[in-house]
Amino acid sequence: MGCGSGQQAIQEDIQKQEQIYPIKLHQETIAIIGCTHAGTTAAISLRNLNKNVRIIVFEKNPAVAFLNCGIHLVINKTCDDLNKLFYNSPNKMKSLGIDIHECTSIEGVDFKAKQLNAVNLLNQEKSSYQYDKLIISTGSNPVIPPIIQGLDYKNDPVRQLRADYKRILLCKTYQDAQRLIKLSAEKVCIIGSGHIGMELVWSFNSIGSKVTVVDHGHHILAKYFDIEYVNILEQECRKLGIEISSNSKVIKLSENEHKASVLIQRTVEGVVKTLNAEFDYVIICAGFIPNTENIIQWSENTLVNMNKIIVVDKQQRTSIENVYAIGDCATCLIKYCKSKRTSHSRHRPCAKASQPHTKPLIRIYRQWARIKHMASNSLIIHLLQPAQLTQMRRKLYNMWAESSSPTTSGADTARRKWTRLFKSKN
Ligand SMILES: Cc1cc2nc3c(=O)[nH]c(=O)nc-3n(C[C@H](O)[C@H](O)[C@H](O)COP(=O)(O)OP(=O)(O)OC[C@H]3O[C@@H](n4cnc5c(N)ncnc54)[C@H](O)[C@@H]3O)c2cc1C
Repeated sequence: MGCGSGQQAIQEDIQKQEQIYPIKLHQETIAIIGCTHAGTTAAISLRNLNKNVRIIVFEKNPAVAFLNCGIHLVINKTCDDLNKLFYNSPNKMKSLGIDIHECTSIEGVDFKAKQLNAVNLLNQEKSSYQYDKLIISTGSNPVIPPIIQGLDYKNDPVRQLRADYKRILLCKTYQDAQRLIKLSAEKVCIIGSGHIGMELVWSFNSIGSKVTVVDHGHHILAKYFDIEYVNILEQECRKLGIEISSNSKVIKLSENEHKASVLIQRTVEGVVKTLNAEFDYVIICAGFIPNTENIIQWSENTLVNMNKIIVVDKQQRTSIENVYAIGDCATCLIKYCKSKRTSHSRHRPCAKASQPHTKPLIRIYRQWARIKHMASNSLIIHLLQPAQLTQMRRKLYNMWAESSSPTTSGADTARRKWTRLFKSKN
């Protein structure tokens, strides 16, 4: 009897061990949670650096490495196939010896025992994995304002919206993109006139949809550019027949089988007016929040974060030993320091933005960088004539050249460098 129970205990022990995979204790194991841009890059780079380390990757979605920045290009038919936006696949990663588990969600982390609890979303099978080092790349989720009728905000509203709503849509994942490219909508409302919202505005406009963009700010792209540039962009949008509803707050969103309804509070010359508008589809582009809530909870709040963005150092190390965070879910706090420049501030001119005399220069530099970035991007190219783009650049350059702020030796060097850049682009 005693012997029997002893054997049973051993058997249970083996079973427990078997669940914890992999058990090759001689091999270092690096686990990665999330496999879009950050996770994919980490896995591939690690493999290139070290052929012996075991890399296990967990991704909730069936697809990995999807270029969401190209979604609008498929909508406006610049790109003819959504599948061309993948730059890697589970099979390719497996061929590199990366142990990838797609359709698998990490539902718990024991940071002390260095153990992950995973659930296979296809068959609900649970398993546990041990790691030596953990990389968190859980990214971000779209912000969903608490105005959608029938949505239970306490219970994963992003998942609910994707599963249960047909006319109120998001723009982030491959699955979102699959829905967006099928729209043959006549009337589309985009909520949010940031970079992503405006890319969609332009794309739907260019395939013949009637597009309205709603934003509570005074202007489109207000976070990105000064008023003079935004005015040019707004004029061009209106010429294309795009309706811009600024100073407008969406206070209620609902849908039925045929339409989506948007209740808007618009402020015109200090007077608030409420109006109801109906669209075929509404797409929410109201920003993103880090997808870290559960992980922070599992760490019993030992994972230092700033508004739920995991704080990391220059080597992407978190506050927990052997745990790293990368991509949209992480941030590196740069020390603003007058006398001692960190290696970050050398590479990133905006790191000195806290110094009052460099502020206007930084603002100009940032706008120029955005114009440069967006100029290589389809949105600005299609909204602006080349001459207008050059005019915007020239204006910025003049503002830059005329700024009479006192300089430091650091700012002088930066000024020389950026002047070269401006000149080369003019
Ligand atoms: C429409 C659009 C256009 C964009 N355009 C640009 C651009 O032009 N230029 C630019 O620089 N950036 C752009 N961005 C931003 C850029 O896409 C993001 O910065 C980037 O996707 C961040 O990558 P990430 O890997 O950190 O996070 P994410 O892309 O959010 O990926 C995180 C992954 O983790 C997975 N995951 C989360 N939790 C778990 C879990 N518990 N278990 C398993 N898996 C999990 C998720 O399923 C997801 O696949 C754009 C974004 C969008 C949406």
